[in-house]
Amino acid sequence: MEKNIINKVVIITGASSGIGEATAKLLAQSGAKVVLAARREERLHTIVNEIKQGGGEAVAVKADVVSPEDMQNLAKIVREMYGRIDVLVNNAGIMPSSRMNELRVAEWDQMIDVNIKGVLYGIAAVLPTMREQQSGHIINLSSTSGYQVSPTSAVYAATKFAVRAISEGLRLEETATSGIRSTLIAPGLTKTELFDSITSPEVQAIANQISGLGISPNSIARAIAFAINEPDDTLISEIMVRPTAL
Ligand code: NDP
Repeated sequence: MEKNIINKVVIITGASSGIGEATAKLLAQSGAKVVLAARREERLHTIVNEIKQGGGEAVAVKADVVSPEDMQNLAKIVREMYGRIDVLVNNAGIMPSSRMNELRVAEWDQMIDVNIKGVLYGIAAVLPTMREQQSGHIINLSSTSGYQVSPTSAVYAATKFAVRAISEGLRLEETATSGIRSTLIAPGLTKTELFDSITSPEVQAIANQISGLGISPNSIARAIAFAINEPDDTLISEIMVRPTAL
């Protein structure tokens, strides 16, 4: 078991599939108490049961990251259960990419809501508790698209650039003074359900071509576990994990 993960209370948003699910399983195996949050409750319960059967500690809480009330409620439940919140993995995200001139304005709104506001509502829900504890760790999922824009990725990339700015701001404001670590994780192409949210036929065709080159969500989970496991005086501020094939 990993030393600085054991017994930590870790909330993971978007834990019903992909990177969130893999992270929940790995951290639970490593001795953390994991709280899995997402909208699809049935899937959360199935994963929680798997974790428990493997000897890990896990609970499921239904929460939509777009709802500040849901996120506050999530933090309240965790405080009542465990008395503390050690780590928040702000992982929930969607990627209905398209060309700007397709004017899929509702999808732009959804990406901004889930990928940016969702991250902020997560921070708002846990920050007071972490400041009170004078310790904590907030891990935000950006992307290689948080560094580089490509045709069809403008809005998604904008949300992931924003996550980088938020993560860096959090680090500058909190880490040295209140001991709250801020880590940015930037995955490259990873084999998950993320591409299911694409509705543009052009982008779907591209996704179908390259999806086989993606890495396992376990590779991203290991990066997250590494950042948590480092000693409290060590901040892993940024990790990028890419497939070797791309
Ligand atoms: P998945 O689609 O497998 O997982 C996304 C998760 O987000 C799901 O569990 C989903 O759960 C949850 N989610 C979506 N909307 C909401 C919402 N409103 N409230 C709560 N949860 C929500 O994709 P990934 O695992 O790949 O994505 C995880 C993160 O990694 C995302 O932020 C993504 O942008 C990022 N990323 C992924 C890459 C990839 O290639 N896969 C590359 C770079 C970054 P539910 O529907 O049950 O609510």
